[in-house]
Amino acid sequence: MNNKDLAELIFPEVKETIEDLEKRYPKRNLKAGAEVTRFAPSPTGFLHTGSLFTCLVDMKVAKQSGGIFYTRLEDTDSKREIEGSGKELLEQLKCFDVLPDEGYFGDFEKGDYGPYTQSLRADIYRVVIKECIARGRAYPCFCSKEELDALRLTQEKNHVIPGYYRQYARCRNLSADEAYQKIKNGEPYVIRFRSEGYHERKIEADDLVRGHLLLSENDQDIVIYKSDGLPTYHFAHLVDDHFMRTTIVIRGEEWLSSLPIHLELFQAMNWEAPKYAHLPVIMKLDNGNRRKLSKRKDAEAAISSFLKEGYPKEAILEYLLTIANSNYEEWHSQNKEKNSSDFLFSFDKMSLDGALFDLSKLQNISKELLAKKTKEEIYEDTLSYAQKNDKKLEEILLKDPSYFKEIVNIEREKENPRKDYVKYSEIFEKNAFFYKEEYEKLLKEKPLPFNPFFSKELRDKILKEFVLTLNYDVDEQTWFASLKALGVKYGFAENGKIYKANKDSYIGQVGDVAEMIRIALTTSKQSPNLYYVLKVLGKEEVCRRISIILENY
Ligand code: GLU
Repeated sequence: MNNKDLAELIFPEVKETIEDLEKRYPKRNLKAGAEVTRFAPSPTGFLHTGSLFTCLVDMKVAKQSGGIFYTRLEDTDSKREIEGSGKELLEQLKCFDVLPDEGYFGDFEKGDYGPYTQSLRADIYRVVIKECIARGRAYPCFCSKEELDALRLTQEKNHVIPGYYRQYARCRNLSADEAYQKIKNGEPYVIRFRSEGYHERKIEADDLVRGHLLLSENDQDIVIYKSDGLPTYHFAHLVDDHFMRTTIVIRGEEWLSSLPIHLELFQAMNWEAPKYAHLPVIMKLDNGNRRKLSKRKDAEAAISSFLKEGYPKEAILEYLLTIANSNYEEWHSQNKEKNSSDFLFSFDKMSLDGALFDLSKLQNISKELLAKKTKEEIYEDTLSYAQKNDKKLEEILLKDPSYFKEIVNIEREKENPRKDYVKYSEIFEKNAFFYKEEYEKLLKEKPLPFNPFFSKELRDKILKEFVLTLNYDVDEQTWFASLKALGVKYGFAENGKIYKANKDSYIGQVGDVAEMIRIALTTSKQSPNLYYVLKVLGKEEVCRRISIILENY
């Protein structure tokens, strides 16, 4: 019996050949230079910040070269699978407007190179495995877990590289007859790749991020087909990226050490290997030490945590671009009117060190971005945030959309808009005082921070006169002049400078008067521009609030 017979005996039901697969999944008809990239998550949990980063690079590279970006679900490890997480991952990608051209979409698949779910591709893998056995590049291995554990222990004791290779690869030397006999006897087995490499020898490889590399050859006879009838990651990568016609494999740097295995697999099949780009991992500073973002320890490892907190998705994507390419920020400041999707990504500008997650940078980007939105956009986006995360806020927003828009429009939609919001979640919080019920709640919550230097009597006089003379149908300057006049009448200096120059002649300055009014109307020393606060509240509400203060404080 030869290897071909053995392959036939193991997989009698497999009738297709590699040629059939080549025909079924022909080379893609794309223009020269168009790249085919893929995002290939395993359904093992939430969307990691690093995964969105990879995905963003995948998408950019495909889009800017006129190529194809597809998604593939890598679910061959059923032990680690978390039910429903594949669909959830795709839903989260959608929240970031990451829309693949083809592939696995959660509820459905689209494209001519499918199925895009690995567990549905068992028959395809079997065609290739069968061929590998027939060519003598793969063989069944009957070693039990106990035997493999014992092998490892011996290797450790003897200080040799652990693993299943050459002289340690016992089943490698079984004849086809011996192997077949064992299978017939019902002995459980897996299929291993027969490596021809030597650890001591080097291979050259190119990585789009890391450049030219010299790596040790693979010499391990890795498992490629498990007893559950599904391939391992390595083999699925070979088959899928070949038949889905991927041109660049973009993945986390944790896969770099497997590159020699993958290159040997492609070589064994006589297939052209794709290009590879191993992206740096996202790190975090922890007590002064850099470490990887941890799924278990760090809330920011789950990208959804930022959306829940109220960061705009565009800010998150833009932030990831600053990590991806060191020249992004410069480009952005020179192309303010352009959208981050217009930026041309390049692998050369990617830093090799793990990028450090920088929250304050994300916050700055977010602040800039929110300041540029129109009041309509802010309303729509805050509403959509509230619908997912804050029912009470949703109610408030739906009840009176135009009031909310007026509030957020204070010092917006102008050349230098006010940059006072980092997240959707804080817009209402910072403006709660505009709402009657919230204002009353705030009054009860804490004492009003009026300056004790000025008597209640003086304050009341000023507030009363302020209400009586209130006129906001004038421009801001005219209004402020009348406020100054009011201050001067009660012994305040027109401005801080005059006051400082001659403190004995004044009891304070006009800013102190503005502060009294501000506290009376908003309960706080800080608020958006007072002139606009008055306008948005409206005369009736201003009068009502001042009388509450006059009566109770
Ligand atoms: N399923 C692998 C992972 O989630 C994908 C790696 C790759 O992109 O090849 O890490």
